Amino acid sequence: MLDYKTLVDWDRKYLWHPFTQMKEWMEESPVIIERGEGIYLIDVNGNRYIDGVASMWTNVHGHNRREINDSITTQLNMISHSSLLGYANVPAIQLAKRLVEITPHGLNKVFYSDNGATSVEVALKMACQFWRQNGEPRRKVFLHLDAAYHGDTVGAMSVGGIELFHKTFENLLFETRVSPAPYVYRSETGQDSESVRDSCLHEMESILQTCKGEIAAVIIEPLIQGAGGVIVSPRGFLKGAAELARKYNALLILDEVMTGFGRTGRMWACEHEGVVPDILCTAKGLTAGYLPLAATITTDEVFDAFLGDYGDFRTFFHGHTFTGNQLGCVAALANINLFEETNLIDRIQPTIEHFKDRLKEFYTLDHVGDVRVCGLAAGIELVRDRVSKEEYPAADKVGMRVCREALQHGAILRPLINVIVLMPPLQITITELDQLLEIVYNAIKRITEEHLRS
Ligand SMILES: *Cc1c(COP(=O)(O)O)cnc(C)c1O
Repeated sequence: MLDYKTLVDWDRKYLWHPFTQMKEWMEESPVIIERGEGIYLIDVNGNRYIDGVASMWTNVHGHNRREINDSITTQLNMISHSSLLGYANVPAIQLAKRLVEITPHGLNKVFYSDNGATSVEVALKMACQFWRQNGEPRRKVFLHLDAAYHGDTVGAMSVGGIELFHKTFENLLFETRVSPAPYVYRSETGQDSESVRDSCLHEMESILQTCKGEIAAVIIEPLIQGAGGVIVSPRGFLKGAAELARKYNALLILDEVMTGFGRTGRMWACEHEGVVPDILCTAKGLTAGYLPLAATITTDEVFDAFLGDYGDFRTFFHGHTFTGNQLGCVAALANINLFEETNLIDRIQPTIEHFKDRLKEFYTLDHVGDVRVCGLAAGIELVRDRVSKEEYPAADKVGMRVCREALQHGAILRPLINVIVLMPPLQITITELDQLLEIVYNAIKRITEEHLRS
């Protein structure tokens, strides 16, 4: 067994971490995870931490869950991977059927890929080719929201709206139309959520009007804009946006990569507002956070536009080497079975109520500006000044410092600049949730009050 010091040396010497300033990283002592157990992550030094963000918003039933482990090892002893290009495999077939059964009515065809970003790339290319083959080749432009996040590949970045992540790559990105995000706390057009919703929808409609016949699809993260800061949409925004897409004959792509698989308290976020998209993307929670697998699920109408004789070349020209990987598919099947066997969606309703209630207490902290919550996802926005809503300068790294403080007390978190994100595994109990909230509350208090003094 390698000792901690050797691992740190090798990490510094050989590894480049994502979204990480490596100069800073190399000056710190990293937590090196060795094991997982339920909602806990355990490092090589034996320290236990609550996984407060479900390992990048993926984990559902806890780590090291026997049912999922067993399904993977059973499959492992048969075969780990064979290609879906030209051949089928058993778990990919079973999972496609299950996904059609558990997604909203009308979504009937499953296209696999490997991660959230690729599931979005697939959706964009599908929409693009759909219109080209369906008599409206002028529909090439995508409409997305400001502050949107759909992944880090070039296509997914193009429909993203986070300046810090996307600006550097501007010259690579294709042209889009951007509609304002319904960010109630920082909206200039209104104070209450209804007026923010209505003004955002109004703006969206005027873009659709201006670009009549040119919008291929409207792409939205339903209910929660995750990486943009856990921005929770006002009630009715999703439904309104879906109606506008329909009215102007654009496809609706819902990116449920984060919101899918129970995060919002329903299996899919779009169920809250009775919306059925033309294309739905799912990844993170699909395998309960065990393996990289994604799916882009669409309607018969979209699928049928790709049918033809070989020589018509209407084939969807897209695929990834590991598309439909067996290990990922059996993990996803075990995940879906666990949802049903443990009645998870019903079981988390009291946890969600408790979470919502307890989070109100965070307003007693002077530097908490906004607390946004939807299902088992929350964003706590820290501000330098509550009255003016003045932000902490990003370089002060207040969010990072709060998370580092929380780490010292047993919780692993990752902020979005000044927003503290809470996204525990859905499996978390109310007692464990209280522990997590107490750690976070105290960490915010300590860091923001210390910041005030310095
Ligand atoms: C995380 C995320 C993605 C990207 O998923 P990856 O697996 O990291 O590529 C896309 N969309 C949303 C809404 C996400 O939260």
